[in-house]
Amino acid sequence: MARDQARHVSIDSHIHIGRDVFFSSHKIEYYPCMKTAQSVGEIIKILNTFNVEKAVVIPFPSPRMANEEDEFWYHYENDLTLCACEEYKNRLYPALAFHPYDKRNIEFLIRMIKEGKVIGLKFHPRAIQIPYEALISNPVLEIASEYDIPIILHIGSGREEEFRRRGMDISLRSALYVSEAHRDNIFIFTHLGRLHRCLEDALRADNVYVDTSALTLKGIWNGFVAIDAWAEIVDLSPREIIEFLVDLGFQDKLLWGSDMPFCLSYEAELSYVLDANIDERSKRRILYENARKIFGI
Ligand SMILES: [Zn+2]
Repeated sequence: MARDQARHVSIDSHIHIGRDVFFSSHKIEYYPCMKTAQSVGEIIKILNTFNVEKAVVIPFPSPRMANEEDEFWYHYENDLTLCACEEYKNRLYPALAFHPYDKRNIEFLIRMIKEGKVIGLKFHPRAIQIPYEALISNPVLEIASEYDIPIILHIGSGREEEFRRRGMDISLRSALYVSEAHRDNIFIFTHLGRLHRCLEDALRADNVYVDTSALTLKGIWNGFVAIDAWAEIVDLSPREIIEFLVDLGFQDKLLWGSDMPFCLSYEAELSYVLDANIDERSKRRILYENARKIFGI
């Protein structure tokens, strides 16, 4: 991979900063390599090591549990993300956490969009325990559409059944419903939609892009793949999945992202694109051009 790595400069569309603020009150161990914090210094070191020119930086999602947690963790984490990106202007770009029912968060995000201080918004239904449908008709979406700010939707898995019992669909199908209701907004579905059987529909939608982040977890954590998986790709390796999707002509719809530190390793996340048997132009699109265009960075 070293030779290709030197040839390809990348943009990481999905890397986390901060910490899991609830970690002291619970233990989540989905997979062994999971970390609970990542500093700006660690991010810069990674980017320098792997020839990554720019990164879209997203606060740590802190999944609420049944304890007495502050559900507004993202206020502080958003500030921290903005500070880090300010320190590394033209290298790190903030995509801030979005809570559709929190007035303070809504006003803050609208101000940040209008002042040109944010390049994306991240909605994480599992972390804040609110379904995708809460985004429909939210005032933030109208402003985001006006300023071409993409809405990044975490596509969940692992606890789909538990959430379904509580009336929440955290699968790609439900995210797709929101993107269809807001055709003027740009959406980025994360984690290759957990390979959901509706992923192809999402990739064919004009206003939807898909990031590849944490695809390496497929090999080590069964919960990565959606319960309603796309049968044709579910048994492929991450590299073969990229080749399959490029074969279908989706090279302009895919954004490479690492999801570091929620992935097997940074090198492994890069490898499945760098080592893929696809043309150089498609590699450049997935690793760099698509993110540059969609985020305007
Ligand atoms: Zn993530």
